[in-house]
Amino acid sequence: MDTKAADNLQDLQYFGEYGGVNPSISDSSTYTFLSAKTMFDTFEGNTEGCYLYTRHSSPSNLYLGEALAALEGTESANVTASGMGAITAVIMQLCNTGDHIVSSRTIYGGTYAFMKNFLKKFNIKTSFVDITSIEAVENAITPKTKMIYCESVSNPLLEIADIKALSVLAKKYGIPLVVDNTFSPLSISPAKLGAEIVIHSLTKFINGTSDCVAGVVCGTTDFCLALKDVNDGAGMLLGSTLDSLRAASILKNMRTLHIRMKKHSENAQYLAQNFEKDGLKVVYPGLKSHKGHGKIKELMNHEYGFGGIMTINVGSLEKANALMELMQKKKLGYLAVSLGFYKTLFSAPGTSTSSEIPLEEQKEMGLSDGLIRFSIGLDNDIHRTYEIMRDCMEQLNILSSKASMV
Ligand SMILES: *Cc1c(COP(=O)(O)O)cnc(C)c1O
Repeated sequence: MDTKAADNLQDLQYFGEYGGVNPSISDSSTYTFLSAKTMFDTFEGNTEGCYLYTRHSSPSNLYLGEALAALEGTESANVTASGMGAITAVIMQLCNTGDHIVSSRTIYGGTYAFMKNFLKKFNIKTSFVDITSIEAVENAITPKTKMIYCESVSNPLLEIADIKALSVLAKKYGIPLVVDNTFSPLSISPAKLGAEIVIHSLTKFINGTSDCVAGVVCGTTDFCLALKDVNDGAGMLLGSTLDSLRAASILKNMRTLHIRMKKHSENAQYLAQNFEKDGLKVVYPGLKSHKGHGKIKELMNHEYGFGGIMTINVGSLEKANALMELMQKKKLGYLAVSLGFYKTLFSAPGTSTSSEIPLEEQKEMGLSDGLIRFSIGLDNDIHRTYEIMRDCMEQLNILSSKASMV
C-alpha cells in the first residue's frame, strides 16, 4: 500500500500573518464583511473563503482540517470539539427516524452507548455484529440501513476490520462505510482502502499530549459542507465546535505524529513479544498469534508498525488492579483511561472505558475481568521498562519468578 500521508502532511507549509512559520491563530468568534451582500451570500453557503461565525468555521480549524484531510487522503475534513462530537454528528447527519445502522460490536464504549441507548429517542436501531465476519455484516443489512460502522482496530479487543472487503460490501448496498481510525493513524488509511468517511478522536495519538479533547470527520467536500450547512448540518447545529487555540496546538503536535507512531509501535512490539514469551496472554496485532495478524499486514502501511495498544490478561480484576497500582508507583505510567500519551497509560476496560457495555455482552465478546489495556508510551529504553514491569508481575505472582523458572 503506497501511502505518502506523512509526506503530504510535511508538505503543508503555512505562513502566518507576519510570515510566521506557524499559521496565525484566529482570535475571533465573528468576522466582518465589507459588503452586506457578501454576508447574505455567506449564509447561503455561496462564498468560498469567507468566514461568518466560528461555530461554522474559522481559519485555525480549517488549517487543522486540511492537515487531517492530507493525513487520511480525503478531499476535506471538519474538526470537532471531541471524538464523540464527530461520531454523533456523522450519525445524525446520515440517519433519519426509523433508520438502521450495522455496527461492529467491539467499539468505543461511548459510541456503543450512543447507538444503543441515545438513538432510541429517534427510533434508530443498531445491529451489533462480529465485524470480522463479512457474512454476518451482510446478513444484518436491511433496506433501512444507512451505514456500516466500525473501528479499524477495535477497542479494546484489537480486532482488525477488513476495510477493503467491508467497503466493497457497502458499495454493493449503496451505503457509506464509516471507520473510526483513532487507534491507528498513519498505520492504516481507511479512505485509501475504500471507506467513505473516516473519524478520529484527536484526543489520542494525533494530539499525543493528553491535554485536550478534539475530533475530526474526514470525507468528501460535499459531505463536509453538508455537515456545516446553516440550515440542516449536524456539525453546525449540534454545536460541537473546536476552539481555535486548541486547533492550532493540535496542528503543531501533528508535525511529530509519524515519529511518535513508529516509537509507540516499536515499544509495544517489544513488550508484547517478550511478555508472550514469558507465557502471558498478550493480545497485540503485531504478534503472529493475533487472529487479525495476517489481515492487518495486508491493510497496513508497514513503516508505522502495528500500533501502540496491547492488552494483557492477568487472570482476575484483583490482580489487574494490584498490578496497575504497582506499575504507577514504579513510574511506568499512569492508571488512566485514554491513549496516545507519551507515558504509558493503563486501565481495565471492563470497569472503565467499556463499562457502558453490559457484563453479559462483555463476556460474549471476550472482554474478561483480568484484561488490562496498555497504551504504550515513548520510553527511550524499552528493555529497562520491560524489566521493571516484569519485576512488578513477579511480585504479584502474575509471572513466576525468574529463580523458580530456572
Ligand atoms: C476516545 C475515543 C473516542 C471518543 O473520543 P473523545 O475525544 O473522547 O470524544 C471514540 N473512538 C475511539 C476509538 C476512542 O478511543
